[in-house]
Amino acid sequence: MKIDLHATLRAHNTFGFDVSAQYLVHLTQAEELPVFVQKALDQALPWQVFGGGSNLVLAADLKGYTGLMQIMGRRLMREDADYFYVEAMAGENWHDFVLWSLEQGYPGLENLALIPGTVGASPIQNIGAYGLEVAQVFDSLEAFDVQNNCFVRLSNADCAFAYRHSLFKEDPQRYIVTSVCFKLPKKWQANLTYAELEKAFANKSDLSAKDIFNKVCEIRSAKLPDPKVLGNSGSFFHNPVVTHEKYQELKKRFPNLIAYPYAEGWKLAAGWLIDQCGFKGYRVGHLGVYEKQALVLVNHGGGTGSELLALAKEIQDKVLASFGVSLSIEPVVFK
Ligand SMILES: Cc1cc2nc3c(=O)[nH]c(=O)nc-3n(C[C@H](O)[C@H](O)[C@H](O)COP(=O)(O)OP(=O)(O)OC[C@H]3O[C@@H](n4cnc5c(N)ncnc54)[C@H](O)[C@@H]3O)c2cc1C
Repeated sequence: MKIDLHATLRAHNTFGFDVSAQYLVHLTQAEELPVFVQKALDQALPWQVFGGGSNLVLAADLKGYTGLMQIMGRRLMREDADYFYVEAMAGENWHDFVLWSLEQGYPGLENLALIPGTVGASPIQNIGAYGLEVAQVFDSLEAFDVQNNCFVRLSNADCAFAYRHSLFKEDPQRYIVTSVCFKLPKKWQANLTYAELEKAFANKSDLSAKDIFNKVCEIRSAKLPDPKVLGNSGSFFHNPVVTHEKYQELKKRFPNLIAYPYAEGWKLAAGWLIDQCGFKGYRVGHLGVYEKQALVLVNHGGGTGSELLALAKEIQDKVLASFGVSLSIEPVVFK
């Protein structure tokens, strides 16, 4: 188990914030996890495990043990008459895994192409995009259960998935995910529930999963900044869900409001709310709001996590004052 002392995390978070980890541990095998956690517990120090750092705000140096999930491997675990059960270890890059599964002849993940990060983090916030959420294709995962000091397999129901949420968000100190298994139907059907995809393929009859993969990559590249060029964590706020009464009140005041029916209420487009407050392209020092998409906050270089949180607070306050709607932050904050 390789451990670096006082190592910078700059290359391990997509905002590029230059904070350090007291102990940075490279986790390459599942058997290292009990030792990793025990080291922290023995010294009464905190611990955390990161994947690609694409959903993090690091606003201070991290005390204790920070594990980088680097357990690799992917395989067809089993198949039955209806499904392929495809497994990847937690350190695998998510996008590479999506591409690999397509190339192996196991389609079904193509709508989630180009989402940064690792396979192990995909169930944590139940990643979703372009009409698909991980929960819809998730079979089970293996994790180290810190509380009971053993490895466990958790089913889809165990994980209690919801919109950008799961069991793991409720209790982040309980499980470290080591592998995830996806259940992909052998009878592939194109998922064109997202309006932009439906429109793009309206007249195409022999549509393949690779066509959808390519289109999703194309749309995403045009809309979102590449973290290697401009630090960001994708959508910075959740799309808020409001009651039907609140939606009607807002729709009356703002006829152009963008909203979708969701569960018992309505999901509002957070990007639209922020845009209406005049923040698109806004800049304070090194931080700002992406010029093409108001839901994405960016580090133009040299910014810090606390400056980013101050900008987020300014946006939250203005949206609350203008619409009476609270925005909650999507990435996990360490401060
Ligand atoms: C440009 C861009 C676009 C994005 N688009 C989307 C999108 O369309 N949809 C979407 O849902 N998300 C999106 N995201 C957010 C992000 O890509 C996902 O949340 C991704 O799953 C994070 O993976 P990661 O490995 O980088 O996790 P990290 O950022 O390293 O960690 C995130 C959280 O997961 C925990 N964690 C990580 N690995 C493990 C593990 N093995 N076991 C237990 N806990 C773990 C961490 O402790 C932390 O709390 C985007 C981000 C960027 C930068």
